[in-house]
Amino acid sequence: MTAFAFTVGMPELPEVQTTVQGLNRRISGLTIKDAWTDYGSSFHKGKDSIKDAPYFVFFRKQIAGARVIQVDRKAKNILIRIQKGASHSTILIHMKMTGHVMYGSYAFDGTKARDPWTPAPGERASLSDPFNRFIHFVLTFSNSKNVVLSDMRKFAKVTLIADADLEKTIHLEHIGPDPLEKTFTFEVFRDRLQRRPTGRVKTVLMDQSVIAGVGNIYSDEALWRAGLHPEERVGNIPDLLLKKLYASTLQVLKKGIDFGGDSMSDYRNIDGERGKFQEQHRAYRRAGKKCDKPGCPGMIIRKVVGGRSAHFCDTHQKILGRQPAKAKRPVAKISAVKKPV
Ligand SMILES: [Zn+2]
Repeated sequence: MTAFAFTVGMPELPEVQTTVQGLNRRISGLTIKDAWTDYGSSFHKGKDSIKDAPYFVFFRKQIAGARVIQVDRKAKNILIRIQKGASHSTILIHMKMTGHVMYGSYAFDGTKARDPWTPAPGERASLSDPFNRFIHFVLTFSNSKNVVLSDMRKFAKVTLIADADLEKTIHLEHIGPDPLEKTFTFEVFRDRLQRRPTGRVKTVLMDQSVIAGVGNIYSDEALWRAGLHPEERVGNIPDLLLKKLYASTLQVLKKGIDFGGDSMSDYRNIDGERGKFQEQHRAYRRAGKKCDKPGCPGMIIRKVVGGRSAHFCDTHQKILGRQPAKAKRPVAKISAVKKPV
């Protein structure tokens, strides 16, 4: 696991958002005819995962004939909202390490033991990209088109949740606020980070229970832009720099979406095409290269922080000196203590 955590980039918020926007445009209003999978794994026996064969039988029955209302995102989970008769439920897909979802016309060849699904003749060439051939889950729609999940390492998760259970499902537990929500103000950001004052800023930024959706790529890029060392302790970062980090985090996530996600690794959009955010990297996977910050003579270096590779500038991202106790702290302390009158 650890060894390839260094080489494989997991889809982060911008990639999931790009997929969700694409799916919403293509499958909203369509009716699901059938589902197929070859995930089958005894490790998932008895779990509410399509990797468990009996669960998949149930899943397939439940979704056949259902209509797609819309496609949403909660953190890095894709939520396909469906309706069948009076019952509303949600197909949850988490792409995990190497999964990505595509849409198109596919042909099934039952004589092939491996990779029986391939893009139908005449489909766009991008769907035949070598990263797109590991198809382990397929939905077939009333228009004969398919949603497929290509997942080289087979870590992705697909399950079905009745809408009545959405609020309490374990699949959506321990998720921090979403940085793309309007309610995600600087105060929310600061409050979330400061729950882990002794944590290293990169590790805390990437903790999905602190903030949803930021992973290795976007944390490196946000810290480079804010001029913060990835190992800086959260409690040691002054407000001014935290504000910079808040702004740069939002900036890189939005830029990631504008560029259609990051495809330095496996990620492809629903047309099987690469995103372009990897061309915007200033830090991630740029070890040994000169820093791009105007006037900075530094070099990008790589260091393992909290089990993940951090990429940062050796010059403009230095550990801060210990912050002298500011007047702010004693004032806050005094005001918190009720003085005897
Ligand atoms: Zn620099």
